[in-house]
Amino acid sequence: MLGLGRVFRWPLVALSLTAGLAGPGPAVAAESVVTDIRVAERAGVTRMVFELTRKVAFSAFTLGNPARVVIDLPEVGWRLPARPLPGATGVFEKLRYGLYKPGNSRVVLDIRTPAAITRAFILEPQGEKGFRAVIDLTPTTSETFLRNAGKAPVRVTAPRPSPPLPAAASPKNKMVLVKGPDQAAAPVAVTAKGPKASRSGLQPPPPPPQQATPFRLAPRKPELKRRGKKRVVIIDPGHGGADPGTIGISGIYEKHLTLSMARELKKRLERTGRFKALLTRDRDIFIRLRDRVQVARDAKAELFISIHADSVRDKSIKGSAVYTLSEKASDREAQELADKENKADLIAGVDLTYETPEVTNILIDLAQRESMNQSARFAATLVKELRRNIKVLRNSHRFAGFAVLKAPDIPSVLFEMGFLSNPSDERALRSRKYRARLAAMVVRSMEAYFARIEEATRK
Ligand SMILES: [Zn+2]
Repeated sequence: MLGLGRVFRWPLVALSLTAGLAGPGPAVAAESVVTDIRVAERAGVTRMVFELTRKVAFSAFTLGNPARVVIDLPEVGWRLPARPLPGATGVFEKLRYGLYKPGNSRVVLDIRTPAAITRAFILEPQGEKGFRAVIDLTPTTSETFLRNAGKAPVRVTAPRPSPPLPAAASPKNKMVLVKGPDQAAAPVAVTAKGPKASRSGLQPPPPPPQQATPFRLAPRKPELKRRGKKRVVIIDPGHGGADPGTIGISGIYEKHLTLSMARELKKRLERTGRFKALLTRDRDIFIRLRDRVQVARDAKAELFISIHADSVRDKSIKGSAVYTLSEKASDREAQELADKENKADLIAGVDLTYETPEVTNILIDLAQRESMNQSARFAATLVKELRRNIKVLRNSHRFAGFAVLKAPDIPSVLFEMGFLSNPSDERALRSRKYRARLAAMVVRSMEAYFARIEEATRK
């Protein structure tokens, strides 16, 4: 019961130590700042307005399954008013925003009904209002929506004279470019006037379909540690950029917590002198799941740990858990969690039309089986260490088909630090001191894991 006792005491310490969380990076490099996002519906048209400090080029396109509208901007800063983001209005349901890749910020709109982008333009400053990027969405049929979703290439259009606006905007506003309603269904790109437009990066057309290649790799045998050779460990802070992950009861984003924890863990691992730790991301940016796996493979890592925090409807559920890859989920909760975590690409507006499932090919591979055994071994070591110190879920080592754990030749685990839906877990995870304590447990379990491997190799 040692673990339980501690979990009740720690949050008290945590209260005064909420500092040191990885917030969004400084916006110094950003050329323009989004200062407000508004949505309104008039005469069947849903209008999204993004207020900007400077003129930018942007592009917009639709994606299906589920229906989304993606707006790509050059890298911008975000300084939104301290009130909730716009709620469901017209076809609009909700939105996410963030850095998609260096030089490219992205807004993803979930839409309630199929819609077409009928207009997109920039309004010049007027009175107290600065630059505004405007996008009009009009309901369309499912057939039309699906036919056009993600298909047509993004076009960059030169500024041209503006046709008049309906209802919502004043005729005095000067539009840089307006997309004609007759071209409703196709993705549109809009450029701002002036020399800045040419410097702003716009999205290239979607890549051609890719073939999934079966992995045929020899298992990467853990080597006997040579003198001075450090173990390479990849730390993967879950989510990022346009994908915030789960949101805590105090409003904290999972993506910020995971990055703070990853940095802490890297620091502590490297302090031992026995590890070289690399992060899959060291800023608030979106990274595709398969690219996270690729980072580990490129680095020839010997261990991959993906860091997350969970959230469930039942606020009383708390504790940490460690997950490893398996064809079949160990239980329904594990399956639901995997489904949720695997949605990251979808959430950030990645077009998954051309992605093919690689699961079958990967799972039959011998290398995968061997690394799955090692993953399970490390997971057991970590769970043992956690159980000694904090509260863990009853089935604290679980299995499911997590996309981020699919490096075929690298032992990989997913660490759910706790529940952001639970008040005491959330408070604890917000504290730097608690995260440092968790990181110390992970370091000890990694040392034990590699020590066992070295011992086994010597025999
Ligand atoms: Zn997560």
